[in-house]
Parts: sequence; C-alpha cells; structure tokens
Amino acid sequence: MEKEFDEDCRCYCGVHSVLKTSWTDENPSRRFLGCPNYRDGGGCNYFDWIDPPIPNRKKSTFLSLLGRNESSEVRLHRIENKWEFVEGEMQMLRADVDRLEVERQSLEENLRTLEQKYKFVVYVLIVVACYSVGRSIVC
Ligand SMILES: [Zn+2]
Repeated sequence: MEKEFDEDCRCYCGVHSVLKTSWTDENPSRRFLGCPNYRDGGGCNYFDWIDPPIPNRKKSTFLSLLGRNESSEVRLHRIENKWEFVEGEMQMLRADVDRLEVERQSLEENLRTLEQKYKFVVYVLIVVACYSVGRSIVC
C-alpha cells in the first residue's frame, strides 16, 4: 500500500527531505524520501521508502521498458559476440589495407615506368627537332 508522506519531513540534517525515485534493478520506479545533500558527498543517510516494494512481475516489466531485463550473463555473452564480430571486421579491414598497399606499390611502379617512357619520347623529339634544324641551316 502506498504510504502518505509528510511534506514537512526533515532528514537528520534538519532540512526538508526530498522526494526521489529509485531506478535501480531492485527498485525501479520506486519513490523514496532522502536527504537533499546526499549526492553532494555530504548530508546524512536519511532514507524512507514512500512506495511499497515492487512485485516481481512489475519489476521485470519496468526493467524490460528500461532495456535492462537481461541477466548479466546474457549481456556479457551478447557483448562477447559483438566483440568477436568487431575483431572479425578488423581482420578483414587489415587484409584490405594490405591488399591496397600492394596495389599502391604496383601503381607507383607503373607510374615510374610511364615517366621514363615519357622522358625518352621527349628526348627523341628534341633530338629529331635539333637534327631537322641543323639540316635546314646546312642546306
Ligand atoms: Zn540530511
């Protein structure tokens, strides 16, 4: 049964207690009165439940809505599966990087060969041009 709470209720510090809601796995959505300074590292440990304990059926519904209905073992297994998947992806990406590096080296080699051919063609054209100019001067 829901308990009425006194709005004038004070904690052990002598200040008005505040209404809070628990979201722990054990007490999801369960209201309580607490010390307003508790989270700041000070305050007192005043604590009083307002709502009655939550029946297990409602508790699992709350946890399900919060996405926390998995047991820690199931969660751990799911995370391990994700980790294996990520490791597999990383291995495939490393293989891609290695393959692309080989391809890059091959393309660089082709570029060097083409540059040498281009320089040779330019050299031949210059020689032919000089020869033609020389012949026309002599004639
Ligand atoms: Zn207090």
